[in-house]
Amino acid sequence: MHEMGLAANVIDIVLAELEKRNIDKSRLTAVKITAGKMMQIVPESLKFGLEIASRAAGMPKAEFIITEAPLKIRCGSCGREECMRRASGAEEFSMACKKCGANTPQITGGREFTIDSIDVAD
Ligand SMILES: [Zn+2]
Repeated sequence: MHEMGLAANVIDIVLAELEKRNIDKSRLTAVKITAGKMMQIVPESLKFGLEIASRAAGMPKAEFIITEAPLKIRCGSCGREECMRRASGAEEFSMACKKCGANTPQITGGREFTIDSIDVAD
């Protein structure tokens, strides 16, 4: 459950941003977040943690919208790019290239964790 720690970090960043802009934190309505697949975040858990942390921090109306960014890899051998979707279940997923078979993947997406926007009520 590293979502609770992450949630606390997000709230700290949001609070700092609101303070910088001189906006009352109780006016916060929505925060949009992009979380890469590689971050192994359970969006529902993060959302839950954010709601608890934001309420505790005095932001009763804040909603959190989390978008998952797919894992993207590029073959180090032929340059083929692919979005990986992890198979359901415990099945190990292969990152070997489907075109040339080389097992030299470079991760080009899916490790991001960004706060995209912070919305406040007038
Ligand atoms: Zn390849």
